[in-house]
Amino acid sequence: MLDSLRVTFLGTGTSVGIPVITCKCAVCTSDDPRNRRLRASILLEWEGPDGPQRVLVDTSTDLRQQALRSGIDRVDAVLYTHAHADHILGLDELRIFNFVYRTSIPLHGEQETLDVLKRMFAYAFDPKAVGVPRLDLVPIEGSVEFAGLRIEAIPLGHGAGQVTAYRIGNFAYATDCNHISRAAAARLQGLDALVLDSLRRRPHRSHFGLEQALAEVERLRPKRTYLTHLSHDLEHAALEEELPANVRVAFDEMSLEFPIPESSRCVS
Ligand SMILES: [Zn+2]
Ligand SMILES: [Zn+2]
Ligand SMILES: [Zn+2]
Repeated sequence: MLDSLRVTFLGTGTSVGIPVITCKCAVCTSDDPRNRRLRASILLEWEGPDGPQRVLVDTSTDLRQQALRSGIDRVDAVLYTHAHADHILGLDELRIFNFVYRTSIPLHGEQETLDVLKRMFAYAFDPKAVGVPRLDLVPIEGSVEFAGLRIEAIPLGHGAGQVTAYRIGNFAYATDCNHISRAAAARLQGLDALVLDSLRRRPHRSHFGLEQALAEVERLRPKRTYLTHLSHDLEHAALEEELPANVRVAFDEMSLEFPIPESSRCVS
């Protein structure tokens, strides 16, 4: 029990997804399935004290398609990184899990993120409404303990706003960021694997460009890094070839497995 964490990439694309509607560029018309990227999200799976756990990080615009493609038949909780449209617009798809399992689903995130969810999906939080998702908003303060695991929430800069990175044992997911403070960097040491935002080659006002992402890899020194939230500026095979061996390009449906260290386990 609780000895390993499985991470599946449900989507590795930027906010518009790849291919981009109307675009005829080489990446958008590529035959390589690794260049087809749904909106960014991952699935975390582990064996909890009460059985298998399936936790989504974000409910992307493409959640329905992602759940069908990856055979997700249950969602025990959602961890939100932030409330940008591409990370939250699939929220209504959680309804089906409510209907099937007759339980509400806890949504974890910073208070600011949860406030936006409550405003954008007001119908889902109307106690008189029927046939709507049943969700419990649970603000995170520093970390969350869930089904035997301690999950660290680490604030990073995302343009003028903030995003939450999540760390479980020696795995961390840091999408949609362009600034890592010294305090956050200290909490991202000793990683076996880091998933890191790398939108495109040039820098962007709210995302790391490729060079900046590689500079963060040098600074944080995770054993392995997987780039995500990719735009059509980055072709999978060509990018893999030019990257150092310890940095790889994530792709949809890629799956990784990590041991869960004793220090990340808790009784809850
Ligand atoms: Zn995004
Ligand atoms: Zn394109
Ligand atoms: Zn964002």
